[in-house]
Amino acid sequence: MSGDTLDTFRRLIRNTGPISLAHYMGESNARYYAARDPLGAAGDFVTAPEISQMFGELIGLWLADMWLRAGRAENPLYVELGPGRGTLARDALRTAARYGLTPQVHLVEASTELRAVQQAALPQAIWHHDLATVPTDGPVLLVANEFLDALPVRQLVRTDGGWRERMIGLDGEALCYVAGQQPFDSAVPDTLRSEPVGTIVETSPAAAAIVYEVAGRLAQQGGTALFIDYGHAEPRTGSTFQAISAHRKVDPLAMPGTADLTAHVDFATLGRIAQSREARWLGTVTQGDWLRALGIETRADNLAHRAPHYAADLAAQRDRLIASDQMGELFKVMGLAAPGWPDGVGFPVD
Ligand code: SAH
Repeated sequence: MSGDTLDTFRRLIRNTGPISLAHYMGESNARYYAARDPLGAAGDFVTAPEISQMFGELIGLWLADMWLRAGRAENPLYVELGPGRGTLARDALRTAARYGLTPQVHLVEASTELRAVQQAALPQAIWHHDLATVPTDGPVLLVANEFLDALPVRQLVRTDGGWRERMIGLDGEALCYVAGQQPFDSAVPDTLRSEPVGTIVETSPAAAAIVYEVAGRLAQQGGTALFIDYGHAEPRTGSTFQAISAHRKVDPLAMPGTADLTAHVDFATLGRIAQSREARWLGTVTQGDWLRALGIETRADNLAHRAPHYAADLAAQRDRLIASDQMGELFKVMGLAAPGWPDGVGFPVD
């Protein structure tokens, strides 16, 4: 499979010339996710819901709190983008049900392999290839954890000849980065155009399109959304394109289709896009601060009290999620809500 994907790219580039980084990333990840369940110790990476049930439970609590304070709107729809093994949804829905929130469950998942795993965890769910087919007749309670980082990024690089798209070409048999032929100066924001040669500007049109659509639905249907991912809340330059295989960073051009290709999420841009659609941007905060505000420390203590033999594991799980040298700082939580929906716990009110 890996050899096939690499060979396919080599043939394509030999025949038609360099391909964009976005093309490379999109095609590689489609093949990567279609063929495997990458999550867990035996896989390539571990996500927050797989570390601890507390993560999904606190998200369920947050959604239920929003829904209750918004007036218990009828026919709520739980929508999750890229639900992985379905663990977050299961933990969140179990908790939400205790507060009377029992939404329809709609999962947006491209991978047939992972859909099968999700079906076992969430037999009541309805699956979609993208948001387009998700119903429009109820408020949306949307969650996306480590979804946006897997979407393709486009990079522009400043060369001696001006700004060009960063592309993937061939050096002998090896894939390599090359600058495209066409000038792209007009695609670079004024404030960045005179950055030094070598500067890279990264954007994710695919992530922007998703947030644009979600924000539009919030404005139309009501509801709220949480996007959780590694990324930055302030604008910045530079490449964050990377590959993870068996819990290590590897060369993103070495084995397409066999490693998870990701990029940091540009929350600064996504927040602005949401607001352009009349959705409320509740804020973008670190995962550590957000989970602390939701009471993860008390929750961990309570669970440990009930199961003392498990106390050390619970403390380790909590720390992995919130410690600043683990997931607590790098991961951000961006909250959005419909106009008229309340502020969210854990987000600063300005
Ligand atoms: N949210 C899960 C899984 C994260 S991995 C967790 O936290 O554990 C990324 C998930 O997004 C996987 O389920 C993957 O199959 C899905 N995915 C990646 N690209 C996608 C795309 N373009 N469309 C739909 N799903 C996608």
